[in-house]
Amino acid sequence: TYNGPSYEETLKMRKEFVTPSAIPFYRKPLLIHKGEMQFLYDHKGVKYLDLFGGIVTVSVGHCHPKVNAALEEQIKTLWHTTAIYMHPKIYEYSEKLASKLPGDLKVVYLVNSGSEANDLAILLARLYTKNYDIITLKNAYHGGGTSTMGLTAQAPWYYPAPGIKNSIHHAMNPDPYTGIWGGKNCRDSPVQTKRNCDCTHGKCLAEDNYINQLESEFKYSLPRGKLAAMFAESIQGVGGTVQFPRNYLKRAAELVRQNGGLFVSDEVQTGFGRTGDHYWGFEGHEIIPDIVTMAKGIGNGFPLGAVVTTPKIAQVLTQAIHFNTFGGNPLACAVGNAVLDVIDEENLQQNALDVGSYLLKGFETLRDKYDIIGDVRGKGLMIGVEMVANSDTRKPMEVNNFIDIWERCKDMGVLFGKGGINGNVFRIKPPMCITKEDAKFALEVFEGAVKNQLNN
Ligand code: PMP
Repeated sequence: TYNGPSYEETLKMRKEFVTPSAIPFYRKPLLIHKGEMQFLYDHKGVKYLDLFGGIVTVSVGHCHPKVNAALEEQIKTLWHTTAIYMHPKIYEYSEKLASKLPGDLKVVYLVNSGSEANDLAILLARLYTKNYDIITLKNAYHGGGTSTMGLTAQAPWYYPAPGIKNSIHHAMNPDPYTGIWGGKNCRDSPVQTKRNCDCTHGKCLAEDNYINQLESEFKYSLPRGKLAAMFAESIQGVGGTVQFPRNYLKRAAELVRQNGGLFVSDEVQTGFGRTGDHYWGFEGHEIIPDIVTMAKGIGNGFPLGAVVTTPKIAQVLTQAIHFNTFGGNPLACAVGNAVLDVIDEENLQQNALDVGSYLLKGFETLRDKYDIIGDVRGKGLMIGVEMVANSDTRKPMEVNNFIDIWERCKDMGVLFGKGGINGNVFRIKPPMCITKEDAKFALEVFEGAVKNQLNN
């Protein structure tokens, strides 16, 4: 039972003492005080199915017993020491994490968040290539610090301040649903149907167009066509679970390397088995990146992030001291280590594929039934459902109508995420321990809320 300050007091403290720009999640924000695997409980004891995993942060389940036990054991022994002394946990954990990555991706830097990870990746890429310019995709999210906000390319997350977009360019987003060139059936999805196919003879014209546009960015924006890096999410998260035409990232990585740059894969949302068919999202695109950045699910909610790169690239950091007080502390490493074990022991990648495909199929069925469901996409437990006012023109659903449906789902016990540049995409990224029964319940609740909206 909850015995903290009252709902009203909590709301008042939030208004007075924390940043006034906090994201208004729900018209009447939830007061959450307890989590148990895929469930959350509010101050009144109401139970919710958490389909957003605290923004994809909880990978193996809220307060997972094995992760909790690892943390408790470490708390009793040693809280903190970083690079100045040796501690086996950081090395053991880094070795285990590196073993999950392909190719020569073997050197691990531990940090505390996704923004920090991408900030370090910027530094590595610029030092290694001796180039300065960086390309990301419009609609990307790569962080909120003063360097990484420049990589992020969505107006709601942008503060105009000098230097933020310093030599960072945004290429057109290869969004097959709302982008100008289509390409919807060229996504790598287990559940696609032949609807609105924009391609001919098995060739994705959209993909060609987007690659040409990226190439033109090299010509028009970059000094002598040279760049330090391209950053990309394997599937855009905050941007609304946008999946690119099948070979886009592979071809983009080739172009980047031809022009002297490194390819950085931001796996903050897509890593650790979430996409089901692979452990890392980039593996679904048949690329081996030069740098991989991670956060969120890596620590199941504990502040932890990582940058993994090759020994050759890592060498550039030896020219000065690189130091991070909390990066790689024993508590974070104990947690990270347990998370890796749990993903394997409980077959969570397979579960992401099974339950995710079940959910995708369920949403596809609903999409074919209700016109206001415009698009269903994603892989594993990284799913997006885009709501529209008109399924022919794909005009986005009015935000207030979207929020009505979203709030109704909450009132019926299911917490969805939301996102997309128009704020009209349901984001489904639950803890990976979710079951088919939970998925069935979520689909029923969602359909109920959609029906209710249509009857209003
Ligand atoms: N990259 C991606 C893909 C993200 O979704 C986020 C957070 N939404 C970040 C980086 C930044 O992570 P953090 O909030 O931990 O700084």
